[in-house]
Amino acid sequence: MRGIWHSEPMTDTADLLRDAAERATRYLAALEERPVTPSAAAVAALVDLGGALADQGSPAAETLALLDRCGSPATVATAGGRYFGFVTGGALPATVAAGWLAQAWDQNTALGVMSPATTTLDALALRWLVDVLGLPEGSGGAFVTGATMANISGLTAARNRQLALAGHDVDHDGLFGAPPLRVLVGGAAHASIFKALSVIGLGRSRVEVLPADEQGRVVADDLPALDRRPTIVCLQAGNVNTGASDPFEPLVAWAHEAGAWVHIDGAFGLWAAASRSRASQVQGVAAADSWATDAHKWLNVPYDCGAVVVADPTALPAAFDQQVSYLPVGDERDPARHGPEFSQRARGVEVWAALHHLGRSGVADLVDRCCDLAVRAAAGLRALGLEVHNEVVLNQVVFSAADDEATAELLGAIQAEGTAWMGPTTWRGRACVRLSVSSWATTEADIDATLAAIERVSARVE
Ligand SMILES: *Cc1c(COP(=O)(O)O)cnc(C)c1O
Repeated sequence: MRGIWHSEPMTDTADLLRDAAERATRYLAALEERPVTPSAAAVAALVDLGGALADQGSPAAETLALLDRCGSPATVATAGGRYFGFVTGGALPATVAAGWLAQAWDQNTALGVMSPATTTLDALALRWLVDVLGLPEGSGGAFVTGATMANISGLTAARNRQLALAGHDVDHDGLFGAPPLRVLVGGAAHASIFKALSVIGLGRSRVEVLPADEQGRVVADDLPALDRRPTIVCLQAGNVNTGASDPFEPLVAWAHEAGAWVHIDGAFGLWAAASRSRASQVQGVAAADSWATDAHKWLNVPYDCGAVVVADPTALPAAFDQQVSYLPVGDERDPARHGPEFSQRARGVEVWAALHHLGRSGVADLVDRCCDLAVRAAAGLRALGLEVHNEVVLNQVVFSAADDEATAELLGAIQAEGTAWMGPTTWRGRACVRLSVSSWATTEADIDATLAAIERVSARVE
């Protein structure tokens, strides 16, 4: 019997990786032809992956073949050009390839001593990310799983700093005996801000809500008075429905006047800063204190990859560095000292690959192209007699049919038809459809095919 504990001869490994590459290539090539959502039969066939855990293992080639046979047909075609659900990027080929190589490296990117290559790439990628987003040079940061974790990390740094200034050490004493921390949040903030506030002990419900306008932007006049109490203000670049951003210049000035910390949730909207035509959407955002963003959304790298950036490079280590005797402190930048995770995959590799491959102008093109395609989609939807509810200032389009019932019926028909996929939302009390253009792979032809599909199904549901 050939025990699976023996390392496989190199030829087997080479064959296996070639097989994986061929399967992946076939998968991507077929995306254009298949419905965006998997068939019910493909989803039902996922049972073949399971059953009881086998006592005896299988050769790796068989494991991979089963995964491809059952897994691939049951995926959602988010890597293709016609998935407009949530805010979902498709991974750039350069980042998939770089990720494969990095997986073969199998580096733990916690400490410089564990991987000079990937910790260097991590630091380089962060520096380029800060640069392309126009954030302050010399900012600190960390790659994390996504914008939710980036919000948790940025708000942790904010909480600890604001309470330290009031004489309380959260790192040592927790929140017991701390003075109250005032938290102000925009009226159309993303759910992950509330999750973050609850996780870090600040509470989701004791926040003060800043009124927002009909696009979800905080209204900058009539702001509450701030004083010298410890305060955090959470603002947003890119509302998840409308794509609109808060007016940062007056809001940051108002907050900083009172010594408050300004945290920005810019999961996708922060990327407007890299654009040629939409940078004015986020004017003044660089004056904030911390930012959360995603690379797996608009930078189009594979999951999972978010980033937290903090203007003061000492603020993240102040919150997250734990001195432990067996952790040598070297000269290299140790990612584990800057964020919530210790062991971590080499997220910086794919970010580095995306930015190296695209360059500054390629990132601008990617963002601009998605925004232009959203404008094209909105015009086409209006021409079909549908109502577009937002100013299409970025890559998001919120639309509906005549009433909530007709909208739900239309959305169900679009999803079932299979050319494209988009999801439901509620915007200002109306049931709506949300269409987000966030992928490098989306073309004008994809938008036009999607509009044609909507026209076909509208005729049927009427
Ligand atoms: C997507 C999104 C998040 C959450 O990001 P994850 O990467 O899913 O954790 C937070 N805020 C906004 C505005 C978003 O669009």
